[in-house]
Amino acid sequence: MQTIEKFNFAGKKAFVRVDFNVPMNEAIITDDTRIRAALPTLKKILADGGSVIIASHMGRPKKNPDSKYTLQAILPHVSKLLGVEVKFAADCADAAAAAAALQPGEALLLENLRFYAEEEGKARLADGASDEEKAEAKKAIKESQKTFTATLASYADCYVNDAFGTAHRAHASTALIAKHFDESNKMFGYLMEKEVIAVQKVMTDTARPFTAIMGGSKVSSKIDIIENLLSKVDNLIITGGMSFTFVKALGGQIGNSLCEDDKLELALELIDKAKANGVKLVLPVDAKIADAFNNDANTQFVPDNEVPEGWLGLDIGPKTEAIFAEVIKASKTILWNGPTGVFEFENFSHGSRTVGEAIAAATKNGAFSLVGGGDSVACVNKFGLVDSVSYVSTGGGALLEAIEGRVLPGIEAIRGF
Ligand code: AMP
Repeated sequence: MQTIEKFNFAGKKAFVRVDFNVPMNEAIITDDTRIRAALPTLKKILADGGSVIIASHMGRPKKNPDSKYTLQAILPHVSKLLGVEVKFAADCADAAAAAAALQPGEALLLENLRFYAEEEGKARLADGASDEEKAEAKKAIKESQKTFTATLASYADCYVNDAFGTAHRAHASTALIAKHFDESNKMFGYLMEKEVIAVQKVMTDTARPFTAIMGGSKVSSKIDIIENLLSKVDNLIITGGMSFTFVKALGGQIGNSLCEDDKLELALELIDKAKANGVKLVLPVDAKIADAFNNDANTQFVPDNEVPEGWLGLDIGPKTEAIFAEVIKASKTILWNGPTGVFEFENFSHGSRTVGEAIAAATKNGAFSLVGGGDSVACVNKFGLVDSVSYVSTGGGALLEAIEGRVLPGIEAIRGF
């Protein structure tokens, strides 16, 4: 497989798919992390004497053009960070001349790829379209998507995908375009490569024992992940609001704690599956409960299965913290997705902090730790632990699909699996 490090971009034009879908307030970028994350890749290409055609989506535009989602708004900041005056192509599907004119060391930013429905390959239908019209439109968009993809590919000599956040989508610029380049001319960017290696270290080249910590609010949103992990992990810690569905399924009293009553059966099935697979399922034994859902509520510690009516569990208790920390510290591979409680409230953040610190200690001791999926990233940020874990994924949905065991189209298009 080709790699960005080995590839010499001198005299080449590279089509680089990045994720510049940055949060904006009016025309101001409120967090430029995603742009900064792609800089090593872009800078390497320019330093080699290549030129870059930078392509991204932003938001969910429903028409072309849509001024609310124009990438022109981020152009000055991209230029500033990259250290070159980046040119702009106001129509991503009509940029052949601008791309052809690029000289070594120059950069061109294409307008939002999603202005074209062809990027996602989903037809934009008028309200009330008949089934027949829908079927027609679906067929038509698949055809025009081929042309759109070929146009994008025609701008460049090589293709670099550095947008892990969209790797789970089989879109024109994230997966389909790769077919237009031979093996030696397509590769991951540095960011994507780091994400892919991190997932691989956890899911395939696993050092044991492997402990996954699944927290957060809903079992239903994490079933596929839990099921997949049950054939991979040695220890599965279930925590956060979703642990109460398990506690109730086992006959415990959970008061007003979060619970998905339609998932009680499933919780029992997962417990059985863990047993059958020889996985140690670790559930909380005590909880910090509150008489209201707010930071200043009255609190007490109780066994997890003895939460009185009118009270709700908002974090784990000290006994659970000690049990979790012991399991985590003895691990060689750790995956953390989801907090142990309502960490946004200071008074219910202690459990998540303890878990984060245990992961940091294990990492210091040689374990590989991957933290990913929305709120756990917010946790490590809040507790200042970003540099104490092995890798914090920027992937969100893409990471979750990878740990569900799915093949991600953006990865497959380059690596072949
Ligand atoms: P998720 O998006 O499913 O990963 O869930 C993350 C959210 O779960 C965070 O906003 C937490 O505040 C919330 N959460 C974690 N534990 C609890 C709990 N015991 N009760 C209610 N919400 C919780």
